Amino acid sequence: MKKQILVSGGAGYIGSHVTVELINAGYDVIVADNMSNCDMTCYEGVKKITGKQDIPFVEMDFCDYGAVEKLFTDYKIDAVIHFAAFKAVGESVVKPIMYYKNNLLSFLNLLEAIQKYGACNVLFSSSATVYGETKDLPVTESTQRLPSTSPYGNTKQICEDILRDTVYAHPDIKGIALRYFNPIGAHPSALIGELPRGVPNNLVPYITQTAIGKRKCLNIFGNDYPTPDGTCLRDYIDVVDLAKAHVAAVTRMIEGRMKEDYEIFNVGTGCPISVLELVTTFEKVNNLSLNYQCVERRPGDVMAIWADTTLANQELGWKAERTIEETLKSAWQWEQYISQKENK
Ligand code: UDP
Repeated sequence: MKKQILVSGGAGYIGSHVTVELINAGYDVIVADNMSNCDMTCYEGVKKITGKQDIPFVEMDFCDYGAVEKLFTDYKIDAVIHFAAFKAVGESVVKPIMYYKNNLLSFLNLLEAIQKYGACNVLFSSSATVYGETKDLPVTESTQRLPSTSPYGNTKQICEDILRDTVYAHPDIKGIALRYFNPIGAHPSALIGELPRGVPNNLVPYITQTAIGKRKCLNIFGNDYPTPDGTCLRDYIDVVDLAKAHVAAVTRMIEGRMKEDYEIFNVGTGCPISVLELVTTFEKVNNLSLNYQCVERRPGDVMAIWADTTLANQELGWKAERTIEETLKSAWQWEQYISQKENK
């Protein structure tokens, strides 16, 4: 019998790409989502890409414990990948209670149900934000986490700790936290991708929306940093590569190949790219010219962060494969697809 993976937040940007790769790898997937930050576009896209029409979809909120329990009584779940969380850094500063309540309660409910219904593997979607403004570059998994600069970042740190403590207290539960760097791009089919609501906060959706004419001008936040071209450095990880890291991590858990009951992996490329480089590469590969200007630094931005990916490469047997050119092409194709759909 195929192993069944519950993907919380599975109708969203990363969740939908992970669902595709899990199905490609031979897993059965149950998608659960409260649709608070997405519509059915990506879920429908996943069905088209995989050719699988019967992927169970449960509309539910992980803050509702009864609904979470029902998942475990309705399905035999071998592993859970937990994405369901709010993720806008700026919004979290303005609405901390909403962020703490949603991100912590949903995860606690999930773990409580897992503890009640028996052995399970938990993969938590964490973030490089847990490293804060570190000087220790590139960051390894043992680089010290620094106090978070936002409630959002704090929820990632707290959830990592909750998972670690839960795993140590319950030997039948295993946990992995994947710390994502900057996920970008879309599936090569252009049928799934990132669908930001309102004005995008992240760089690549802002770039693609400027290129298509939804935004007038891209603001580059700060060109006076002590970096080679003055703009910030980040580690942009292709979303399909990122999704494959989840498959590798879940398989490691399910096959009992973990070295510790709780493990952490950085998921990035290991290559820093500046904001300006990203913009000019986007222009070049898509043969267009982008309207942009350099403005003040954005408060809270770290100057530079990128991953040491040795551990994920060695232990997960995973490596980022798509080039930045391919990734930026896919982001543009997705934007064009979405705009066409919207204009119909
Ligand atoms: N950035 C920018 N203009 C934008 C959005 C982002 O110059 O409209 C920069 C931001 O200052 C940072 C990088 O792009 O240096 C990545 O930002 P993003 O919000 O995508 O991810 P973060 O690394 O902040 O989580």
